[in-house]
Amino acid sequence: MRAVTFQAPGEVRVDEKPDPELLDPGDAIVRVGASGICGSDLHIFHGRVQIEPGFIIGHEYVGEVVAVGDGVDRVAVGDRVLGTYGTACGECWFCAREEFHKCDNGRVFGHGATLGSLQGAQAELVLVPHANLSLRGVPDGVSDEVALFAGDVMGTAYHAIASRPLADGETVAVLGLGPVGLCAVQAAKAAGAAEVIAVDTVADRLEMAKGFGATPVHLTEQNPRGEVKALTDGRGVDLAVDAVGHPDALDLACRLARKAGTVNATGVYAEPIELHMGVVWIKALTITTGHANVIKHVDPVLERLADGRLDPAPLVTHRMTLDEAPEAYEIYDRREALKIVLTP
Ligand SMILES: [Zn+2]
Ligand SMILES: [Zn+2]
Repeated sequence: MRAVTFQAPGEVRVDEKPDPELLDPGDAIVRVGASGICGSDLHIFHGRVQIEPGFIIGHEYVGEVVAVGDGVDRVAVGDRVLGTYGTACGECWFCAREEFHKCDNGRVFGHGATLGSLQGAQAELVLVPHANLSLRGVPDGVSDEVALFAGDVMGTAYHAIASRPLADGETVAVLGLGPVGLCAVQAAKAAGAAEVIAVDTVADRLEMAKGFGATPVHLTEQNPRGEVKALTDGRGVDLAVDAVGHPDALDLACRLARKAGTVNATGVYAEPIELHMGVVWIKALTITTGHANVIKHVDPVLERLADGRLDPAPLVTHRMTLDEAPEAYEIYDRREALKIVLTP
């Protein structure tokens, strides 16, 4: 089969690789119909996340089940399925509490030995362990390129918004309008937010957020704190989402949140940062963090994709073939695309 492999920082290649085989009763093999290129793939591309040369990358995929082990009963050969970005064992202490994102045996597709040596999904075929948890049937009427958002980007956005169950009339600010931020705007509207304030510096992204029902606010040409005050009777928002992963965004989220509000840091942090704990403490903020429990949220997310409450289709700016992956990574690296979908 053909597959996209990491070679060296700045270099990915389409290689011929052996077809995967079932290894465990819980495994399935999926013939990939569409896969996504994600911001976290760029970390690998740049060498910031180090993986072995020759490892297959990619963790967002939709396809058809072509083989299952004896222990797989939630999907069957021939089913059109969506996969989550990682797998969970379903048996450990954390899985018993549905904290699948913190599974003691969790593995992430396409991230090399550090995250469980699970070959990636930017390939013609992918081996899927624990298929009963990590695969779901795609509802009729949901396209491949929409469904693949459920396994990572929309699942992450949904998780960010679910960090504070919104009461009637509650408001949300989303800082950073990349794919996750734009999906968070939709997830906030779908969760019943009375007002969603979307902050970024890129005009196209602000425009798209407006199309999703948000009030767009330019980070530097407008005054986000003033705009949020004006829209919330001077209080601040009930939930502020940092979808950037930068200390400035987290600080602004803490300023935009109301007293006793919630701040969610969904953007990725790997280093110590300075946070004004005095502001957090005196405002009695709740801070929620971490990557998303996508396996837990995948059913409600698919349901909302099927009935149209969530619709990430406008985020797909590029459709390319698997063979064009090297070019696709360069386009994504130049930030010319919001979401690139690869088809075999
Ligand atoms: Zn992703
Ligand atoms: Zn587990």
